[in-house]
Amino acid sequence: MGRYIGPKCRLCRREGIKLFLKGERCFSSKCAIEVRNYPPGMHQPKKLSEYGEQLREKQKLRRMYGLMEKQFRNYYIRAAQKKGVTGELLLQYLETRLDNVVFLLGFANSRDMARQLVCHGHVTVNGRQVDIPSYEVKAGSLLGVKSRDKSQKLVQETLKTTESRQVPTWLSLDKKNLKAEVIKVPERNEIEVPVNENVIVELYSK
Ligand code: SF4
Repeated sequence: MGRYIGPKCRLCRREGIKLFLKGERCFSSKCAIEVRNYPPGMHQPKKLSEYGEQLREKQKLRRMYGLMEKQFRNYYIRAAQKKGVTGELLLQYLETRLDNVVFLLGFANSRDMARQLVCHGHVTVNGRQVDIPSYEVKAGSLLGVKSRDKSQKLVQETLKTTESRQVPTWLSLDKKNLKAEVIKVPERNEIEVPVNENVIVELYSK
């Protein structure tokens, strides 16, 4: 299945939650979930089967992080192979992607923009440029912005627009110097993603 190119707000309305796909608009009263929190289309949705519910939860999570099915499934496979709670591990892998961390720090308005920022070489990890959005940050990783003027200006301007957002407690941000540290890998209660990851695990483990 290819990448979805239709209206982004439609995806949020379909899932009934904010997926934060459109930058600052998502944090404003103009957000379609604030204005029209009902599914798109004319018909009321039917009651979902167990499989349907599992599928919806998976789609919510996959769309929130902007991943293709294959990439998403690979994260599940890694999580299932590792010792621990599979659902929590899955969320940890997604949450510690470099593009996601760049978004959470407020360096970018959306995960899409964060991905571009990384791909275009504006972000450093432990002093080295990293242009791979899926790069996995670890506890102790130090993030920064490339020292060239263009990169610094771009992120400084964006930080002004993301000021009202709370940076998660597992990250520490030095706004003045555009530097950040990953204090720890987040636990489930530190990951603000309103999905039931256990049903996603049930779906894939069938
Ligand atoms: Fe979703 Fe609201 Fe952002 Fe549109 S504005 S993408 S509905 S969170």
